[in-house]
Amino acid sequence: MIFFKNINLRKINYGLILISMCLIIPISFKLLSNKKADSENILEIVSNLISFKTVYPNNPEEFTKCANYIKNHFKDTNLHIEEFEFNGSPSLVISNHKTKNFDIIFCGHIDVVPAPDNLFKIKEDNGILYGRGVSDMKGQVAVMMQIMKDLSQQKIEKKIALFLTSDEERGGFNGTNKLLNEENYSCKVAIVPDGGFNYNLVIEEKGVLQIKITAKGKSSHASEPWNGNNAITKLFDLYAHINSNFPSPKNQNDWKTSFNVGKIEGGDSINKVPNEASMYIDIRHIHSDKMENITNFIKNFDESLNIEILAIGKSFKTNENNTYIKQYIDVCESLLNRKIDIIKLHCASDGRFFTEKNIPCIMMNPEGGNIHCDDEWINLKSLSKLKEIYESYIENFIG
Ligand SMILES: [Zn+2]
Repeated sequence: MIFFKNINLRKINYGLILISMCLIIPISFKLLSNKKADSENILEIVSNLISFKTVYPNNPEEFTKCANYIKNHFKDTNLHIEEFEFNGSPSLVISNHKTKNFDIIFCGHIDVVPAPDNLFKIKEDNGILYGRGVSDMKGQVAVMMQIMKDLSQQKIEKKIALFLTSDEERGGFNGTNKLLNEENYSCKVAIVPDGGFNYNLVIEEKGVLQIKITAKGKSSHASEPWNGNNAITKLFDLYAHINSNFPSPKNQNDWKTSFNVGKIEGGDSINKVPNEASMYIDIRHIHSDKMENITNFIKNFDESLNIEILAIGKSFKTNENNTYIKQYIDVCESLLNRKIDIIKLHCASDGRFFTEKNIPCIMMNPEGGNIHCDDEWINLKSLSKLKEIYESYIENFIG
């Protein structure tokens, strides 16, 4: 509540200063915003973005066309545009200051999952937009592009950048990951609107660990098990050990690490003790169950087991008590005129790359849903509201 008072005071101050100093001071961000124009601009940008079939691996030229459209959108501005390509995936960094250390980095992706041709033309029905990528996440990209364009018309000290990457749906390793870890971009807080519909704030997403565990044993005839060492039952024992220490979550609110045995291999004859067997396990782990702890847990049970890591995706976690996150929550609750919900999600996003760098990250979506489905949708008004939230957040940002 104290924060809201601050916002109002600041607006009054701007008004007074404007009058008394004859427009010398940069005009407050918020005073420039025009809701109708916002919504029209956002609709135009998102319609154009949707028309590019930015789907891997088939359409490299569509990524180029989409990137050209974005660069063209900023052509008459004083913003800086840096272009990168990591293993064939293009990324753009658009910013209002020439630096690598920003106050805020907005982060979005322009790649989408495959869809029939008709979904690459936006449809509007009563304020709801439909099309591939409207809510994952070209709608939010349109908002962030418009924010950057508005920023270009102002002289502000706050350093703001927008990452636009093109490989999030394939893991984000050749986009956000490289920008943070190889190009060394950094910021005080990141904004990744790629989760948490209906203005829910996401503070945690599970990590992924896929492993193949191989047990070695000793062959013998089935009638003489004392002469052999059964590799398959070694894996049964391991599974029972996992199950008793990590019971399966009962529903989506049961926030626990889960293990799924998806495939087993081993043995070649019913009358033989098998000397080798493998188990493939997909693990979705909460942030406090670190990957190394899980592999150590298996090793500690039976150190003869061989663990091969097949895929890794780290978890996302942000602290809701961090100052930047609290400022954001205050702005949201003031503009939405209600409390917002703080949630945890089972899926993954590029937010985890910011977690790895200990950068607090704001993850929140407007009203939308059914991502990756044919009826993916987003509410156009709520995109404008998201823009209002960003404007107010930037205006009141205390670095
Ligand atoms: Zn996404």
